[in-house]
Amino acid sequence: MDYKVEAIDEHTWMIEEYDEAVSCYMYLLEGSEKALLIDTGMGQIPLGEIVEGLTKLPVEVLNTHAHIDHIGGNSLFEKVYLHEKEREVYRLHSGGFHNYFPQYAYHAARDNIIWYTGEPEMDLGGRCLQILLTPGHSEGSVCILDKERKWLFSGDTCCKAAVLLALDFSETVAVYRQSLQKLLEYKDDYVLTWPGHHSVPVVPEIIEQFRDAADLLLAGKERGENQKTQFGESLLFRYKDIMIDYREDRLR
Ligand SMILES: [Zn+2]
Ligand SMILES: [Zn+2]
Repeated sequence: MDYKVEAIDEHTWMIEEYDEAVSCYMYLLEGSEKALLIDTGMGQIPLGEIVEGLTKLPVEVLNTHAHIDHIGGNSLFEKVYLHEKEREVYRLHSGGFHNYFPQYAYHAARDNIIWYTGEPEMDLGGRCLQILLTPGHSEGSVCILDKERKWLFSGDTCCKAAVLLALDFSETVAVYRQSLQKLLEYKDDYVLTWPGHHSVPVVPEIIEQFRDAADLLLAGKERGENQKTQFGESLLFRYKDIMIDYREDRLR
């Protein structure tokens, strides 16, 4: 896979790892004492060297969730924060799940995960981040609020595309809707969102679209179209700029 680095500001970078099949965004946030790398992609690029070329500070990693396209480079780092609700997903995705992507090199997981609970704050030195637990796409998916800059790093929870709720370990549409409501309660705290895939950055109005779409599904006013993907059968509901991929038996 190839990669691109783009400076968002003097202390923040977006790293894109991509090929014709996949494109993943990682974000490096620098404070005055340490730096945080949000996600590690598929693990197919020299991420350790790339990050060292951008910051001289010690780098810790936080995964927005434990899917294989967000944890692939974890073994390159000493300290990786993951929400404890992602334990089972991590076990699966850091193990045999690479069979889904035989074209990519596989890095065995190692004992570098710090499992945290709740919604801790992280201080990088003059740069405070608030972790928000937003179950839906997976049980322990999180979004990260960068308070001073008014940014929300949203992982796979709110891309300008489909949210996948039909995966193993996804939550119901109703639970996802609660997470959207939580993000909307913080809406004065961010003016842009930075997702894990697709368009970047994305305006926060996208979160309202997901909430409204979830409401229509939960009220029985709309229903998605049947579809079959590599992950199995599901329903795809298209609404304005976004889509919800879900299962009929996993609405509530
Ligand atoms: Zn994911
Ligand atoms: Zn992803």
